[in-house]
Amino acid sequence: MSKGNIGVTSDNIFPVIKKFLYSDHEIFLRELISNAVDATQKLKTLSSVGEVKGDLGDLRVRVSIDKEKKTLTVSDHGIGMTAEEVDKYINQIAFSGAEEFVNKYKDRTEAIIGHFGLGFYSAFMVSKKVEIFSLSYQEDAKAVHWSCEGDPEYTMEETIKAERGTDIVLHIDDEFSQYLEDATIEGLLRKYCKFLPVEIAFGKKKEWKDGKEVELDEENIINDVNPAWTRKPSELTDEDYDKFYHELYPTQMEEPLFHIHLNVDYPFNLTGILYFPRIKSNMDVHRNKIQLYCNQVYVTDEVENIVPEYLTLLHGVIDSPDIPLNVSRSYLQSDNNVKKISGYITKKVADKLAELYKADKDEFAKKWDDIKMFIQFGMLTDEKFYEKATGFALYKNLDGKYATLDEYKEQVKAAQTDKDGNLVLLYTNDPDAHYTYIERAKAKGYDVLLMDGELDVHVMSQAEQKSEGGKLRFVRIDSDTIENLIRKEDSAKDDYSDEQREGLRKAFEAFIPKAEKLNYYVTCEPAAADALPVFLTQNEFMRRMKEMSAHQQGMSFYGQMPDQYNLVVNTAHPLIQELAAKMTSEQVSEEVEKKEGEETKKETVTKTVYSLANEDERLKQLIDIALLASGQLKGEALAKFVNRSVELL
Ligand code: ADP
Repeated sequence: MSKGNIGVTSDNIFPVIKKFLYSDHEIFLRELISNAVDATQKLKTLSSVGEVKGDLGDLRVRVSIDKEKKTLTVSDHGIGMTAEEVDKYINQIAFSGAEEFVNKYKDRTEAIIGHFGLGFYSAFMVSKKVEIFSLSYQEDAKAVHWSCEGDPEYTMEETIKAERGTDIVLHIDDEFSQYLEDATIEGLLRKYCKFLPVEIAFGKKKEWKDGKEVELDEENIINDVNPAWTRKPSELTDEDYDKFYHELYPTQMEEPLFHIHLNVDYPFNLTGILYFPRIKSNMDVHRNKIQLYCNQVYVTDEVENIVPEYLTLLHGVIDSPDIPLNVSRSYLQSDNNVKKISGYITKKVADKLAELYKADKDEFAKKWDDIKMFIQFGMLTDEKFYEKATGFALYKNLDGKYATLDEYKEQVKAAQTDKDGNLVLLYTNDPDAHYTYIERAKAKGYDVLLMDGELDVHVMSQAEQKSEGGKLRFVRIDSDTIENLIRKEDSAKDDYSDEQREGLRKAFEAFIPKAEKLNYYVTCEPAAADALPVFLTQNEFMRRMKEMSAHQQGMSFYGQMPDQYNLVVNTAHPLIQELAAKMTSEQVSEEVEKKEGEETKKETVTKTVYSLANEDERLKQLIDIALLASGQLKGEALAKFVNRSVELL
């Protein structure tokens, strides 16, 4: 038997492991099983090149608990280790500057473990003693027993072991007795080992029989050794992909909309499957996340810096040995491999979407409402994705027809180009509230888009900015008279005198409701004679700025502005003409004549008009109709309107 000191340049590696690696202690199981799987894979490789002869026998890795002895054992039938190898790989954790490094990264478990290949030593996080029993595959090898109690001293001696391979026996610390519970271990195995390439057995399969759980003879295998992403797409059917989706997310009931199989080996290695989920509500969004694997070992489901942000909404797996796992998150972002990976995934996703759109436009359109959020988010945040996405990002009109922006522009170009050559696209975010405006647009042969998504305002602004020569404009259907929205000729004129116009404006202004954070401006202009006599419009630019400020920092200036509406008095409407006639009636003129000076004259107009208007209940009624048509007449004002309507009848 030999004794020795473990060859770490600093001899305080154990307290470091115990203390600083504490927070993530469950990963010890992943580390030990990864070693067992590696040893098994190495044996298979040696066998395939003829270095190991004969049948390899049972290659399962087994995990077992002995409650009495308080041990947890991981056994494999891999290549095993000779005494020299234990000395080399386990005793000599030879690295320089350990102390310095450990102090620097003491709160980053993964960094320490990964950097120094401390995988095996993580066992000491939860054990008071660790033993190795190993028999190498090499001819005439002698089995070795190594034992260490969590200090730099170990013992090593020859032993007898019948089968090739390694048993790692952990004597679990009393503090960590949860790792002697079947349920805890099974849970950890399912989390970290679900898709390892070598079968992992833990106890026996159980079955419910006559209300009791009984153990079967068969071993309980934790993992699927050939997960779908490691197979060739040509071998897989859609059902296989769906089945794998449910294997990944056992609690997810919905089927995914479609999948993308990723597979690259140059200039980096990456495989995986991404699924587009059907998102029912915002709450679902982050319940199931993309899982990151390294050679089929589960690493994390925090993929934020590896996958472009908008794609973190997808589901699925990514497996890459080339993603540096043991570095800080901020470092990840600047890593060249990671950048390439992110770029590759973007391209692959975009190509797949383009292909789906091309293959079956109707089928793609049916899925559009479910995938729109990913695509719009991607277009707004990733220039490269934007360029590709213009080929399949869809717009939907009020008839439920879908088209890409280019297709749609072609469709409406003839009717909706104004006299200055701007192509004006009309939209609504609330067809019920905008019913009257929509009807007027349709009567003119115009088309109206439905833009009621959370990101639609941003998407429209982006499309305008990117349009050729800035000649594309989106306007909400209620933002002006339809004649003004798509101006076909120079503005129509009416033959009102300035006085008439001023009188009308003042009269309406006097009766406009006052509300906080809500301003109405009265304008008098000729719309169509069959349009409403008075109606509301809201400036597209101001409204959009306000809407966008709700999602964006640094735009609170717009958010605090009051809502502004124009109350358009339609001077072409017969009712208004009748009112205007009154405003210039002799009564007003006479009153004004009597006064001296510009200011007093104006004041007199207002006063006289006001008293005239006050006699005319129709004026209030007209304002209320305008408010009503825009859904802004509520509560007491609405009740008054109803009563007044009855009286007028
Ligand atoms: P890493 O796995 O990152 O190299 P570890 O500390 O986990 O670091 O293991 C050190 C080495 O010990 C491994 O590279 C391997 O050579 C050897 N080893 C560990 N566990 C086993 C095992 N179960 N069978 C054979 N060799 C092993």
